[in-house]
Amino acid sequence: MPSTSAFPTITKVETFIPAQGGDGGDYHRQKDGHWILDGGKPRDEGRAGNSTDSPRKCGISNPMSGYEQYRETRTSWGIGVLGSLVVKITASDGTEGISTGFGGPPACWLIEQHFARFVVGSDPRDTNRMWDQMFKASTFYGRKGLPIAAISVVDLAIWDLLGKIRGEPVYKMIGGRAKDGKIPFYLTGPEPTTARDLGFWGSKVALPYSPNDGFDSMRRNLDFLKAHRKQLGDGFPLMVDCYMSLNVQYAVEMATKAKEEGIDITWWEEVLHPDDFDGHKLLKERAPGIKWTTGEHEYSRYGFRQLIEGRSIDILQPDVMWMGGMTELLKISAQAAAYDIPVVPHGSGPYSYHFILSQPHSPFCEYIANSPDGLSIAPVFGNLFLNEPVPHGGSIDVSDEPGFGLILNPEAKLIPSSEFLAPNPENGLSMTDEEKALREKRLANGVNGKH
Ligand SMILES: [Mg+2]
Repeated sequence: MPSTSAFPTITKVETFIPAQGGDGGDYHRQKDGHWILDGGKPRDEGRAGNSTDSPRKCGISNPMSGYEQYRETRTSWGIGVLGSLVVKITASDGTEGISTGFGGPPACWLIEQHFARFVVGSDPRDTNRMWDQMFKASTFYGRKGLPIAAISVVDLAIWDLLGKIRGEPVYKMIGGRAKDGKIPFYLTGPEPTTARDLGFWGSKVALPYSPNDGFDSMRRNLDFLKAHRKQLGDGFPLMVDCYMSLNVQYAVEMATKAKEEGIDITWWEEVLHPDDFDGHKLLKERAPGIKWTTGEHEYSRYGFRQLIEGRSIDILQPDVMWMGGMTELLKISAQAAAYDIPVVPHGSGPYSYHFILSQPHSPFCEYIANSPDGLSIAPVFGNLFLNEPVPHGGSIDVSDEPGFGLILNPEAKLIPSSEFLAPNPENGLSMTDEEKALREKRLANGVNGKH
């Protein structure tokens, strides 16, 4: 082992955006027609016995469902507007750590202009100190959302770098193998029977209608779920993702009615706005026999503390690419372990697999069916990496390759942030002719996160 003084230090932080939509960590940066944007179902599928001549998609119930012009696809109100980014961190011995996430050009700006200063020159083992400085220095504009998503991607690149320097997979550095065998997966997608046929242990569908979709929305939701349950038969777990679109009254009534009508639902996910912490307590009080899960839009140990201490969430679902990265996820995981609450990360591909393998209270993993029709399995990060593992028979055995074990695909075109970020305002008046030409080219090509 190298001594402390001989350990490589970080010399460079670089940011990029993938040139091709679908490559990288933004799940929603997909072409129109992808099921993750519109639900992939005819609008009235849930109405048993009723055919419809409307070609419209039913959409995915979401906080914007109340606005007719934004109801049909989540792209219409801008779910993929930020896009993906890639962070590359180089050490003094030439080793490179790579990660991806979401946040696009604004995240690149934050990393280059703000967070890099806490990372360059550091010992890559000092993960807690670097994270703490990035978090505290951005308190005045950060705490949740995009700034924390940007910190997450930097943190994941640091863990990848550290693993590569040490020659160890990340899971071995964060607690080691806590479970024998492969990680079992459930599949999130539009067709639960696909999940069953491909060997997944369960399936999660998106709820189609919100309370803003008319007085019969609950009936249509129940019929939609009843049709899926009937198709699946008894026994195969079916979960429902409500993407922050309901309220306490609606959620309790629908979950109770589903039970009464024999529609077996394993859990109801993210039914409330993430800031409605008290609402989660009410859900558990009013319907204690129902499993309620949430967490993918919560951030940092402070946000999760509020979810954990009430003991009203049955499964916590942090997204390691959004909520602060691996360094912060380990702290949240420790908090949850003290309450025996399972932690099952949202999406996030191999970043989640390394976490799950190392945590005794993280029993399984989510896989999002990334193909446009959701009927087959595609890599979470598109073509960004040469060797991203995908589940076979509904499970994955985590690689022992160093870091997160991902090799960047040389065919994946990455645009350096210097090509699309405006110059630092301090230097703005003294742009060289070359910089001016580059900026004109950028503006002409519209490579500024337009969607
Ligand atoms: Mg979800």
